[in-house]
Amino acid sequence: MNLIKTKAIVIRSIPYGESDLVVIFFSPGFGIIRGMAKGARKSRKRFLGSLEPFATVMLGAAVKESGALARVDTADLVNARLGIREDLKKYGAGSVMLELVSIFEVSGASGEVFHLIETALDILEGSSASLSLLAAFFPRYLSLSGFGIPLSSCGRCGADLALTGAMYAGGFSIYCSRCSPPAEAAIGRGTVAFLRRAETVGTEVIGRLKLGSRDEKDALDFLGKFASAAAGKRLKTLDIASEF
Ligand SMILES: [Zn+2]
Repeated sequence: MNLIKTKAIVIRSIPYGESDLVVIFFSPGFGIIRGMAKGARKSRKRFLGSLEPFATVMLGAAVKESGALARVDTADLVNARLGIREDLKKYGAGSVMLELVSIFEVSGASGEVFHLIETALDILEGSSASLSLLAAFFPRYLSLSGFGIPLSSCGRCGADLALTGAMYAGGFSIYCSRCSPPAEAAIGRGTVAFLRRAETVGTEVIGRLKLGSRDEKDALDFLGKFASAAAGKRLKTLDIASEF
């Protein structure tokens, strides 16, 4: 057993039994940490709203051998990000970000991924363009977690997709319109360029990338289908995010 103290973001909080919470955190030095907060739902005083999704906390935990849940001892609130939780649109977009983090798990330490999640949530809290931010977060996060989207060239003829636009027909390949089998989603040239830029641009800049509202919808439709294919299951939060 190893006692740790680390900054961490609450990704998910799941009620367990009558009074406990199983909490998934992301920390820069340990990546994903799954922990059990005993009595967290009974004694509100002990954790004071700090185990809610989107919050940054200073986590004190006892980490056990791999596979076992850590014991959550303390979680002191650093930033609750109430601005996300109190706005349906931001809540929807932020929930997709957190679902991506819990599905496409980055193994081990990653300061870069932590910085991306924290920066994106901070921008989201103060932003009015939550869907553009989500569309930019998506390819950047997928790429850092090892699921880069093959958006540079057609999977059959090699044409530059930023010049031809792209068609997605499921699986992991993306085609130009001439080569594509019957497609599930079409991605315009500007949107291809946006997604490619978002994948490689510095984290500080992702809040400045903007799409028109129709392109946002097309981008998220494609990203949702691609991520669901990569994960082998449908993303639960995306339908909610697209409603607002
Ligand atoms: Zn082609």
